Parts: sequence; C-alpha cells; structure tokens
Amino acid sequence: RGGMERHAYDVVVIGAGGAGLRAAIAAHEAGARTAVVCKSLLGKAHTVMAEGGAAAALGNRWPEDSWKVHFRDTMRGGKMLNNWRMAQLHAQEAPDRVLELEDWGALFDRTEDGLISQRDFGGHKYARLAHVGDRTGLELIRTLQQRTVQLGIDVYMECTVTEVLKDGGRVAGAFGYWRETGRFVTFEAPSVILATGGIGKSYKVTSNSWEYTGDGHALALRAGATLINMEFVQFHPTGMVWPPSVKGLLVTESVRGDGGILRNSEGKRFMFDYIPDFFRSETADTEEEADRWYDDKLNNRRPPELLPRDEVARAINSEIKAGRGSPHGGIFLDIASRRDADYIRKRLPSMYHQFKELADVDITAEPMEIGPTCHYVMGGVEVDPDTQQSAVPGLYAAGEVSGGMHGSNRLGGNSLSDLLVFGKRAGEDAAAYATTGDRPTVDEADLKAAQASALAPFEVEGGENPYTIQHDLQQSMNDLVGIIRTAPELEESLGELERLKERADRMVVEGHRQYNPGWHLALDLRNMLLVSECIAKAALARQESRGGHTRDDFPGPDPEWGAKNLVLSIDADGTGVEIAEKPLPVMPDDLQQLFEDK
Ligand code: FAD
Repeated sequence: RGGMERHAYDVVVIGAGGAGLRAAIAAHEAGARTAVVCKSLLGKAHTVMAEGGAAAALGNRWPEDSWKVHFRDTMRGGKMLNNWRMAQLHAQEAPDRVLELEDWGALFDRTEDGLISQRDFGGHKYARLAHVGDRTGLELIRTLQQRTVQLGIDVYMECTVTEVLKDGGRVAGAFGYWRETGRFVTFEAPSVILATGGIGKSYKVTSNSWEYTGDGHALALRAGATLINMEFVQFHPTGMVWPPSVKGLLVTESVRGDGGILRNSEGKRFMFDYIPDFFRSETADTEEEADRWYDDKLNNRRPPELLPRDEVARAINSEIKAGRGSPHGGIFLDIASRRDADYIRKRLPSMYHQFKELADVDITAEPMEIGPTCHYVMGGVEVDPDTQQSAVPGLYAAGEVSGGMHGSNRLGGNSLSDLLVFGKRAGEDAAAYATTGDRPTVDEADLKAAQASALAPFEVEGGENPYTIQHDLQQSMNDLVGIIRTAPELEESLGELERLKERADRMVVEGHRQYNPGWHLALDLRNMLLVSECIAKAALARQESRGGHTRDDFPGPDPEWGAKNLVLSIDADGTGVEIAEKPLPVMPDDLQQLFEDK
C-alpha cells in the first residue's frame, strides 16, 4: 500500500540488547543517522538477564592477567575452533569497553582498593569478570540505554523485523510490523546491523527468553549471508529443574565461581572423575587443592567445577543417566555448606530470591537441584572479524547472532564483553559503509512480497495453529539434537523438521492483525524451523565431539575436523539450507606461540 509507514536512516540496528545498543551508539557517534528497532520494550532485551559479569583482562585482582592470557583461555575454551582474529580483538579491547561503560555511569562492584571487582568463572585462568552482584546485565543495559536516549537515537519498540530488503546484491533496508497494531513499516538504510541474539526457544528446556527465536540468523540466511558453527549449542550446566514451571531457568555460574560445588545423590563431589586430558594440567585433582585455589591461584590449580561449560554439562548428564541424580532429575549444587549466609546473600542476591520465591529453597541452608539447560548458540552469521560485515554488503551482525568468536564453546562472561567490543566495531563500520557510494533503493515489488509473506498465515483455511507445531519442534530438538547426539537421531530430527515445515506451510492464525500473539509466533516459527535445520544438519555433518557438540558415535575430537568450519547457506528455492566445509583461518605464528609455551 502506498500509505505504508516509511523511515530513512543511514544505519538501522535490529535489536536493543548490549550488542545493538553499543552498535547504535558507535554509529551515531560516527555521524550516521541511526535507529534501533526491537521487538520488545527498551530495557527488556535478553542482555538484561545476564548475571555473572563481563570478562575483561583488567588485571585488577591478578596483575598477572593480560589480553594474551584471556585470548589463550578463550581459544582453549572454544577448543581452538574460534576465529583467532575475533578472539584476539575481543581480548585486547574488552578492558577499554568495560572502562568506557564506567565512564558512562555504570556502577560495578569494587575491590578493597576501589577498582572494578573481578570474579572467577569457568575456563578463565584469573578472576576476570567485572560484575554488579549477579545482576550485571541490568547495569550494562541501563547504562547503554541511558546513553542511547541521551544521544537522541531513535528507538522503535515492539516492532518486529521480518525481512532484510535488498537492492541487487546489497542491503537496502528492513521491513517489519508493529506488534500492537499489526501495521507494516519500512526502514530504508544502506546498512543494517543484526543484533537479535540467540535461538534458545527452539529447545524445550532453555534459559532463554521468548525473544530468542533465531530471527537474525534466519534473516541473514534469507538475505544471502552464511552461518557458521551452528552445530555448537551451549547447554549451561546449571539450570533449575524444579518446579516444572521454571525448568531451565538459569542458575549463574557465579555460584561455582564463588565456591559452590557439585554433588551427586551419594554425596560425592563427582567432577574430579571427569577431568579431560586437555585440561588436566591446569585442574586440581584433590579437594584440598581445589579449595585452596579460591585464595591462592598462583600455587594451586582451579577446581574441576570450573571447567568449561561443555565439560561440566556432560559430566552432570552422565551422573543423572547413571542413576545418581537428585529427586527431581538433576544433581546438587551446594554453596550452603561452603560459604556463610551473609556472603551468599551479598554475592548472589538474585539467586537467593530466585530459589526462595520459585522453589521455596533457602540456598544459604540447603543445596540447589540443577541440570543442564539450552543457553547460548556459538553459531551465527559469518562475518569479517574486524568489521562484522557479512557476505552481503551492508549487512552486519554483532553479539550472539554473529558466529566465529567463541568457536565450539563460549566461556562465561565472554558474551557481555563480545557485545561491547563487536557492537562498537559493527556500528563504526556500518556508519562508514553507509556514506560510501550512492544510496540503495527499496524495490516496491519486494515490499509487496514481504507483506504477502507476513500475511500468509491469515489466508490458510483449516490448517494447524502454530502453538502445537512449536511444541513439537521444541520437544524434538530437545530429544534428538540435545547434549549427546548420534547419527540415527540426527537423521530422525531432519525428517521431523521436514514434516514440521510442511505443517508450518499450512499453519493458520485466527483473528485480526491487532496484537495477535498467534500471528507473531507463526512468523517466528519459520525462523525457528530454518535455524533448527541448520543446527541438525551441521551436527550430523561434524563427525567428532568438540565443545558444545558431542557425538556418541564419534566420541573424541578429530584434528581434521578441528581445522574446518561448516558453513550454511539458503538453498536455491529458499526453503532449506545447504552445507559446505571451509578451512579455518590460520593463526599467525606469534599467537600460535602462546599455546606452545605451556
Ligand atoms: P539480546 O540482548 O538478546 O538482544 C536481542 C534484541 O533483538 C532484543 O532487543 C530483541 O527485541 C531484538 N530482536 C530479536 N529479534 C528481532 C526482530 N525480528 N525484530 C526486531 N527486534 C528483534 N553472558 C555473559 O557474558 N555473562 C553473563 O553473566 C551472562 N549471563 C547470562 C544469564 C542468562 C540467564 C542468559 C540467558 C544469558 C547470559 N549470558 C551471559 C549470555 C548473554 O546474556 C547473551 O548472550 C547476550 O546478552 C546477548 O546479547 P545480544 O545483544 O546479542 O542480544
């Protein structure tokens, strides 16, 4: 329709989490006319849920720390599959990004000397996470949001983007709808930054919020960009298992960083049985050494509870499967017997309330019951490591929606710093790109097609509603593409995904366009299905176990697979995905040296 709402900008950022806001600030400061579009309210993005902190080698607690140690930890945590250049930039620039937040008014917890406090997390050699209690994401979002508003950046809230628009091969803008009215809106812009976060809602048990339907991943694919690392999904070891209404809700790793330990139903501190060779030299092998480590990191090795997340999640999974689980199907996380009540309430206020209110458990007096939960996707849009630009000129991705930085497994705390480092880089480059060359134009035929596609679920008669399809998708991803995978199950999942896609083609929504959650889900579901196909296809193709991808039929890592990425792109008729292998970029000798010294 001629009357459709239209706006013109240089840079349009899709997403108002840490990555989106940091990108918007950078683009604005570089002189670009910038807008942020987000499907929930400002301040509600998933980043707000982040608990433990942002990893940065500030060296406030351990002067021995440096970007090189952080880089090494990140690469080893990702089992060397990370894009080395992204891991390098991240480690080098994270401290400045955190200090800059402080300049903008973020109030971090302090050391006794008044510096930003840093806490221990899995896989990090030194205490490295800058934090605000266990509510770090809230402070990060509050600070970035305040700055965004102060700078006068336009924000379009409760507006969902369903299409990236193109002019020939390059980006021309984005198309979406207002959630409240169901009316359409077009943003014309030479640069579009995807900062849409993750994919967790494709799984039944997840720590992720309702927004995590993989929209940016799917938008990028459909626009012609590629995704990498999609087989690597992080199952956080510690999600709540009880009561059923909160199953999957996150229990922060800080509980372990601050002294919490894992026990099975026999009371055994079982993580000592699961130390892999790869981490043996840096992991304590007695309880005494593990306990000494909290106060003396130089002379002791870290406790096995603080191994990277993939290791801990697999160990918990094995204990539960072996029949040594807790009454509600998890295992025990105990900080009550390890730290006094005041310390626990001060360091972990949200966890204290979460368990008290939701499970009627006092974590200062009794252990928690926990189990693995789908938490983070390492995979995402393949981008240039320095600029975050995808294969499509003008299309950028930053934050959880981008791929490469975390390899096969992300270390805790490395996401918040990733958002800041690469959000800024994406914003700067998107601003520079937007002012080179002539402005692209939006094709009216593309707009018509985008509208027709969005309205299609209203046209179907006698089809199925999206809720049952979503339910079946989540169950099947949980059962067949979960922590431990096998070829027959992955093949079964791909068959199931084909059937779900057919059901989704005949999906019907009732009612009209004003605030219609069924319609919104119908549109999100297309993205969830496409992204799930990427995960299952890549998981079937990678015949090894590494990081967040464990194949029961290929139990160990394979050096050949360790040298390549799997790259996914949309197929010729635009309904499925194709997969190809690509060699990993080779790390330069001076960085390689860091892994040979020890
Ligand atoms: P988000 O913050 O999720 O923002 C996504 C934005 O995109 C939202 O504004 C959303 O509305 C918008 N959006 C999505 N789709 C569309 C669309 N189609 N149209 C318009 N807008 C759209 N990491 C750490 O480093 N440290 C931690 O302590 C930590 N704790 C965590 C705790 C929990 C409970 C969880 C779940 C994660 C935690 N993580 C942590 C991970 C980290 O929080 C996320 O990876 C990170 O916040 C992602 O940020 P983002 O900016 O990429 O996306």
